[in-house]
Amino acid sequence: MARYKIVYNRNICIGAVACEAQAPRFWEIDSEDGKANLKNGKKIAHEIFELEIPEEFVKEAQNSADVCPVAGCIKVVKIED
Ligand code: SF4
Repeated sequence: MARYKIVYNRNICIGAVACEAQAPRFWEIDSEDGKANLKNGKKIAHEIFELEIPEEFVKEAQNSADVCPVAGCIKVVKIED
């Protein structure tokens, strides 16, 4: 079965909140700096986070990427084995 992950570049988040409204399962807004946090995301570099997601949630995750106004801030990618 295909595997997917959300890749989130928090460096360029402008706190537009659209992602949280679209997919609160994955996103919450940080009360300190107003940027989004990827819930349970694993930090892989400075302000870059990843979260593996089951295929059933890919559409929901992609919706949150689509509504984000910052290009490349949220990506949903297939994990290559
Ligand atoms: S929609 Fe994009 S810019 Fe807005 S809070 Fe979410 S990640 Fe940040």
